[in-house]
Amino acid sequence: MSQIQWLEEVYKRKDLMLEELVKFLGIESVLDDSTASIRAPFGEKIGEALEFMLALGEKDGFRTRNVDGYAGHIEYGQGEELVGVLAHVDVVPAGDGWTSHPFDPAIRDGKLYARGAIDDKGPGMGAYFALRIIKELGLPVSKRIRLILGCDEESYWRCMKYYFEHEEMPGMGFTPDADFPLIIAEKGFLDFKIFGESDQPRLKGYEWVLDEFEAGQRVNMVPDYAMAKLTGSGDVFDLKMQVQEFLMNRGIQGFAEEADDYLKIVIKGQSHHGSEPDKGLNAALELARFLQSVELDVEGARYIQMINDLLVDSFFGEKLGIAQEDDRVGKLTVNAGVFQYKHREDHYIRVNVRYPIAGDSNEILTEIEEKTANYGMKVTDIDHKPAHFCDPNHPLIKTLSRVYEEQTGEKAELLAIGGGTYARTLDTGVAFGPTFPGKPETAHQKDEFIELEDLFKATAIYAQAIYELAK
Ligand SMILES: [Zn+2]
Repeated sequence: MSQIQWLEEVYKRKDLMLEELVKFLGIESVLDDSTASIRAPFGEKIGEALEFMLALGEKDGFRTRNVDGYAGHIEYGQGEELVGVLAHVDVVPAGDGWTSHPFDPAIRDGKLYARGAIDDKGPGMGAYFALRIIKELGLPVSKRIRLILGCDEESYWRCMKYYFEHEEMPGMGFTPDADFPLIIAEKGFLDFKIFGESDQPRLKGYEWVLDEFEAGQRVNMVPDYAMAKLTGSGDVFDLKMQVQEFLMNRGIQGFAEEADDYLKIVIKGQSHHGSEPDKGLNAALELARFLQSVELDVEGARYIQMINDLLVDSFFGEKLGIAQEDDRVGKLTVNAGVFQYKHREDHYIRVNVRYPIAGDSNEILTEIEEKTANYGMKVTDIDHKPAHFCDPNHPLIKTLSRVYEEQTGEKAELLAIGGGTYARTLDTGVAFGPTFPGKPETAHQKDEFIELEDLFKATAIYAQAIYELAK
């Protein structure tokens, strides 16, 4: 069947595809608990986005199913075996600074701009049209193919958890939600809180009391801002001088300012994705580094000491005693993303650890529990996603590699990443596109876009890939 001109088939349908995609992108499908209902557990708009796709599938003659608003699928073909293509209909919030409205898609210079253009509505619509091409050409398939649409990928992955509790697991599949050529390995994730209960009886005559320490909003981001408030009887002028000196020595930004009854210290860092904590500048760790030289109340001192002993200058788990690496995904990483401390209240640090394929999550946790226990802290709120690896010799990899090479003329390098994609919810699955090598990463950013030519190319690749896997 090599005579099928996949890209041409996409071009024949490109106007229709764009028309549907623009409508799909116009739905502000951001997680919204305030409008959540039984039909739409992640909010009205996410529910609407899922329904939009399912209605499209139904209109075009596919079998569809809405699995209680958590996820849904569009199915084609027949046979025992099932091939899965996993995309998501939810998007991250738009944020500020857009050139055109994030939910009113605009085309400029061959690029389609909108929140979700590349993550993941564009590729999801591409995969849908890929399926349509196979159906309209009447190509013989011996397996069923399901385009599975999740609704909570950007937040808590409750979608796929629920879906696979109620629906069958595909024998193999891919997710169009990362990079081409192919991502076959993803690190394991451990998110948790290092939690401490306040046991300090009362304020005594300390030079300085750590009244507040705050930084970060998301566990998978490097905090770019950290703030501490100190009260006490210490010398304010002297401490402000120390802050200035510290900032200069470290070559970083920040300030100290006096308010009515406290001194506020602010450090500015540099945000970065939590999978590469060493590439940002963690403002909280810098602030803790400074505060170590200040004489603080017992509990404040213990919190700051722990941060210094276990986290500062230790992005690869060295100080926690969990450093390890493999030749597939590289080093274990530790990102301390959220810090919350108030004098005489419970306090915590939220941490994201990403470990290599062979890593043992229990061993890692035990080690962290032991280390933090020395400071009277414990590990709570643990969220674990095991590492994911697909055997390079599996027919899935062979087929997708061949399709990619045939259509692009480029070698299909097998990639490994520290991030996490839907592929890990599959027993046998990989991430496959849509971002081509060398193209900028626009997901989660202002002015998110997908190049139309790339969208069409990806759709053609998906069409052939689905056909080859299901024939
Ligand atoms: Zn995505």
